[in-house]
Amino acid sequence: MIKIENVRKSFGGKEVLKNISMTVPTGTVTVILGPSGSGKTTFLRTLNFLGRADSGTITFNDNSVDLHNASPKEIIQVRRSTAMVFQMYNLFSNMTALGNVMEGLVTIRKKKKREARDIAMKCLYEVGMETYSDYYPVQLSGGQQQRVGIARALAMNPQIILFDEPTSALDPELVGEVLAVIRKIARELKVTMIIVTHEIAFAKEIADQVVFMEGGNVIEKGTAEDVLIHPHELRTQQFLTRYL
Ligand code: ADP
Repeated sequence: MIKIENVRKSFGGKEVLKNISMTVPTGTVTVILGPSGSGKTTFLRTLNFLGRADSGTITFNDNSVDLHNASPKEIIQVRRSTAMVFQMYNLFSNMTALGNVMEGLVTIRKKKKREARDIAMKCLYEVGMETYSDYYPVQLSGGQQQRVGIARALAMNPQIILFDEPTSALDPELVGEVLAVIRKIARELKVTMIIVTHEIAFAKEIADQVVFMEGGNVIEKGTAEDVLIHPHELRTQQFLTRYL
């Protein structure tokens, strides 16, 4: 289980994460919802040190790391345990789909080329992209690029994948295929995930836990049924009426 406690972060005196805590049991999906500007992306970024929290801890199976004062060794350890899927895929344009998925395996995990290729092909298969392994990003649709981005995260075999609005940069007709892939790896591979998304119907279907954030606070959290169907807080209710 992954425990995140008391995460705080300010930018220039403005507190954007006020005291965020959540527990993500292994093999489960947590969806974070909330209006734009509520701190969702900032929160995800602090979890793998893409941004530095002012305070907070992340604990993987009893091993706690201070999100503010971690040693370089601890930062490497946390980055090894987490993988991030970004809004804009961020694939290397000069590498094929296969090359993109192999890259981290070879440079960070120090795998031999042949082993890296085998793992990468398996991950491309998991996202339904194995027949596109030789394609360059520019030859792929946004949805296909994002599926390669997901394969790249899977290849690192992290303890948790953090998805930062994985479909918000896509044309509407491409959203479904990416959500289907996320659903599949959650269900079949039991990958532990935190997903920031505005796709409420998807959240209802996939989330073991829903966290509603606003203004740097967790307003409400619980099962999808609790938060999305019977929300207690007025702010959650107002948000859901705007999006449904
Ligand atoms: P969300 O993902 O919920 O839309 P963000 O985490 O992107 O929210 O942003 C939360 C708040 O922090 C916003 O007010 C945003 O303007 C501010 N913010 C985010 N990143 C920075 C930064 N690098 N410098 C200053 N302010 C930032």
